[in-house]
Amino acid sequence: MDIRLYNTLSREKQAFSPQNPQRVTMYVCGPTVYSYAHIGNARPPVAFDVLFRLLRAKYGADHVVYAANITDVDDKIIAAAADAGRPIAEITEQFERIYRDDMGALGVIEPTHRPHATDHIAGMVEIIGTLVDKGHAYAGKDGVLFHVPSMADYGKLSGRSRDDMVAGARVEVDAGKRDPADFALWKAAKPGEPAEARWDSPWGEGRPGWHIECSAMAKAVLGETIDIHAGGLDLIFPHHENEIAQSECAHGKPMARFWLHNGFLSMDSEKMSKSLGNVKLVHDLLKEWDGETLRFALLSGHYRQPLDFTASLLGQSKTTLDRFYNALRRMKDVAAEDTGVPDGVMAALCDDLNTPDALAQLSALATEANKAETADWPRMKGQMLAAGELLGLLQVDPDAWARGDASDAQAIDDRVAARVAARKAKDFAAADRIRKELAAEGIEIMDGPDGSTWRRI
Ligand SMILES: [Zn+2]
Repeated sequence: MDIRLYNTLSREKQAFSPQNPQRVTMYVCGPTVYSYAHIGNARPPVAFDVLFRLLRAKYGADHVVYAANITDVDDKIIAAAADAGRPIAEITEQFERIYRDDMGALGVIEPTHRPHATDHIAGMVEIIGTLVDKGHAYAGKDGVLFHVPSMADYGKLSGRSRDDMVAGARVEVDAGKRDPADFALWKAAKPGEPAEARWDSPWGEGRPGWHIECSAMAKAVLGETIDIHAGGLDLIFPHHENEIAQSECAHGKPMARFWLHNGFLSMDSEKMSKSLGNVKLVHDLLKEWDGETLRFALLSGHYRQPLDFTASLLGQSKTTLDRFYNALRRMKDVAAEDTGVPDGVMAALCDDLNTPDALAQLSALATEANKAETADWPRMKGQMLAAGELLGLLQVDPDAWARGDASDAQAIDDRVAARVAARKAKDFAAADRIRKELAAEGIEIMDGPDGSTWRRI
């Protein structure tokens, strides 16, 4: 089954075939680590995690190389470190750890590589040097700039006209710019900036611009031409346009064959913004909702479409997952047959990652499983689990799901065991106290002949 993907560059769905099926390469622009990720930031890693899983299923897990970078030097990071009075590396390490934990909770498989910008400064300096040598870049008083008119097909990804581009590029009052669209490759260090955010270069001390970071990291870990480059819609211009300009002018070959972009996420039909006070952090949402519920909600819309993130979407996602897990719970005592992913689910994902269609088919499977004869259970269970794995869902023990958040399940198990021990020791006051405490937290203990279990009420 061919994988077809909508390519922003060609503006059409195209059959995907890698340059080398033994080494399929994919790059997704990662976070700038100085604060918590909001739920909109989680959409690209989750959507393209499904693509990673699909490519692994088709080409083999060892034949797909996926890089998602960490931007650990940036004006905002420097400002955040200065505000907090802490070293830059301490801030970036802290928020990278939180980011990776948050994405892990959303079922995102760890990419093959997580290159850090600060580990690739030499590669950036090398590309900038090539661009200067080839006449695509020049040193100005504030650093090195890419000269946009030097590239004939600049703008091909976004399709923007030159006037739009100049308006879109934050035009700074800079006498050193030869053209208003020119952008920074290397930013000269300013007086008072910390030593930990400056590196030597042939153009003096400074730090890289954001766009050159991705050009250098993609080249270092994946090569000069990669199969798939992806990110949010907001990155098409200027970030991806500028990555293309740098990499293609330096290397004389396409940077990526497929460019994929996910749509925006809104909150209750409004743009997520600090001024509206509706920014939802993944970290906070995870206190209320299981990561799998958040993942389901993110995958409930097609990745290229806008997605309205609401409490009712989360509620529906939870209810649907409960139904799926209930079906699996009924079949828990049978061994799953190795059926592979059902054709319909595979076809949906191969069609430009149509996750809403894949979830609808999974829903139909759950309905079928609930009606199926027990003789069909091994096959039904195998299909549900295989489809779930491809989507990054349904891999939790169904009993653990029914008990609620697995993260505090162990602690509740321990308290239930303490109550059993208290009863055995005839300390009924202690047993009763534990029961009441748990009841106050919404946990009901059920005593049966095989011991005590519990559930959330
Ligand atoms: Zn990037």
